[in-house]
Order: sequence, then C-alpha cells, then structure tokens
Amino acid sequence: MTPKLIDPFHRAINYLRVSVTDRCDFRCVYCMSENMTFLPKKELLTLEELDRMCSTFIGLGVEKLRITGGEPLVRRDIMTFFHGMTRHLEAGTLKELTLTTNGSQLERFADDLWAAGVRRVNISLDTLDDEKFARVTRWGRLPQVMKGIDAAQRAGMRVKINTVALKGFNEDELFTLAEWCAERDMDLTWIEVMPMGDLGNEDRIGQYWSLKDLRAQLAERYTVTDLLERSGGPARYVRLEETGQKIGFITPLTHNFCESCNRVRLTCTGELYMCLGQEDQADLRKPMRDHPDTNEPLVAAIEAAIGRKPKGHDFDYSRQRADGQVSRHMSHTGG
Ligand code: SAM
Ligand code: SF4
Repeated sequence: MTPKLIDPFHRAINYLRVSVTDRCDFRCVYCMSENMTFLPKKELLTLEELDRMCSTFIGLGVEKLRITGGEPLVRRDIMTFFHGMTRHLEAGTLKELTLTTNGSQLERFADDLWAAGVRRVNISLDTLDDEKFARVTRWGRLPQVMKGIDAAQRAGMRVKINTVALKGFNEDELFTLAEWCAERDMDLTWIEVMPMGDLGNEDRIGQYWSLKDLRAQLAERYTVTDLLERSGGPARYVRLEETGQKIGFITPLTHNFCESCNRVRLTCTGELYMCLGQEDQADLRKPMRDHPDTNEPLVAAIEAAIGRKPKGHDFDYSRQRADGQVSRHMSHTGG
C-alpha cells in the first residue's frame, strides 16, 4: 500500500500504539503514584469508538497496532476489541496486532488473544525475585505473572520481556535475566527509565541507570556484537556471541532513533500524541463523536496532526536535572 500518512520529515507513519485504559492492577514505582486518580469512564473511548478510530488509521496505511495502557487486559470486554481487529488482519491491511502487558491477566486471555491473531506479546518484568517484584510493582505478585508468561508461550505467542533498568534495584540481575530469557527462548529488552509524570517523592534521577553502563557490564562476561537491524523504533540490539541471544536496549533519552520514527500514540481518551517526549497532541475524539456518520472530519484531524509531528523530543538528563520532563504519566500515553 502507498503510505498515506507522511510527516514533515518524510517519515511514513504506519505504526499506531493505542492505550485502551489508564487503569492498572499494579502501581509500578516509576510509572504511577500509589493513589492514582483515574479518568471518569465517560472520558474514555468506548470499545466501538476504539474500533472506529483504529480502523480509520488502518485505512490510512497503519499496518501495525500495539495495544497498551495502563494495563490493557484489565479493560472490561477488551477481547471484543481484539476480535474486531481480526478482520483487518484477515483482509491483509493490518500486518500485526500486538500488546504490551504486565502479564497479570495473561493466563486468562492468552488463548483468546491467539485466536484473535496476536502472535507476539511484550511482557514487562523488572525482576525475578518475588519480594523485589512486590516492591517495584507495589500491588503485583510474581507467580501470577509467571503463569501468564507460561500461558502465552503455551498458546504459541512469541514473548519479549521488557525490563526497566533501575539503579540499585536490578543491576545485579543483568545476567540472571539474560540467562532466564535464553532458557525460555524469549527476547529481552532493557529500557532506560524516562522522566514521566509526577510520582510524588520518587527520585527518578537516582533510579536512572544508563544502558551504556549496562552494555559495558555485559561485555565483561560476553562478546557483545552490535547489530544494525532496527525496528523503526527506539530499540538497538546486540548479540551475545556465546549464547547467540539478542538483547535490545531502548534509550529514549538519546536522539538516536527519532529520524526513523514511524509511530504515533493514541490515548484512551482519543488524544493523538505525535511524539512520546512532547506535549503537543490532537483531540481526535471530538471530530469522531461530533460526526457519527462520516469519518471525513476525523481523517482531516489525523492528517493535520501528522503534519505537525515534531522532529524529535527534548528529554535531557545531562545537567542532572530532568529537563524536558513530560508531565503526563506513561500510563496515559501508553508506553
Ligand atoms: N501495563 C503494561 C505494562 O506494564 O507492560 C503496559 C503499559 S506500561 C506504561 C508500558 C511500558 O512502559 C512498560 O514496559 C513499563 O515498564 C514502561 N514504563 C512505565 N513507566 C516508565 C518510565 N518512567 N520510564 C521507562 N519506562 C516506563
Ligand atoms: Fe501498570 Fe504497566 Fe504502569 Fe506498571 S508499568 S503501573 S503495570 S501501566
């Protein structure tokens, strides 16, 4: 298909990440405060509106959808939405339907997700230690997530583990996590912690553990080869020659991926963020709700928004201040 959404920097936008809820059954320390206030239900796009929105984007050339949140699998009846997207997979217009999840509900939903056409899933997991897991997620329990990972693999899905690198927290699990993923044939990606939202007294800079340090530590034990392949996203990959395993690094605080950025993000209230690290957004809910019988105003709003997609973001930790900090939570934009 000829790409229809081209931004001012000649990037074709074919990847939409959709947050389907701001709620979550965990309260990860770097993502949410303990007593979060969530949006009133009427603010959220209904499941029908989510379908209409995603279908419109697919009509405009979006080929990859990633469903996220909050925790996408805590949204009531969310499987109705996934099954709705199956028609686009079957038509060949949508090439991939995936989700990012904390894994807590996967035991329940893995088979159904597979039936809807989901072949890959990203599961966030920062530690293999029960007690540390409870500490970092505040409300989560590791055995439940482990059952979810088992269920996803049993269903046939390819699993990638996403781990947020946290200084003084999971530094000592660099090798155990890599080995555990290798044993289970799962990919592993480390994410640098980003300055998102107001999380109370959390010292985010204290939590920051540079992926450069992490790569250097890996190189003490393994032969680390940089791979050139890119997903159009912020991940860079290395291969550990001794095990053949591929490990990803997401370094959102550098600008090394903006030039190949192919994605935009839709919040659960229908705001379109053209860049994870910028405040500019477009309200797509209004043109959709105001015109139940035609998508033309919605399409026009999407095209106008893509026309404003910025070149890159402004995060900067360099002077030990979280400059360029974005005030919204990750659970709002969907990580
Ligand atoms: N609840 C799901 C989950 O945890 O996978 C999906 C939403 S969560 C916001 C998406 C991803 O964002 C997770 O991998 C999480 O670790 C990551 N994340 C949340 N806050 C972050 C932050 N401040 N910096 C970097 N990554 C963050
Ligand atoms: Fe929930 Fe995911 Fe945020 Fe953790 S990272 S609080 S699981 S939305």
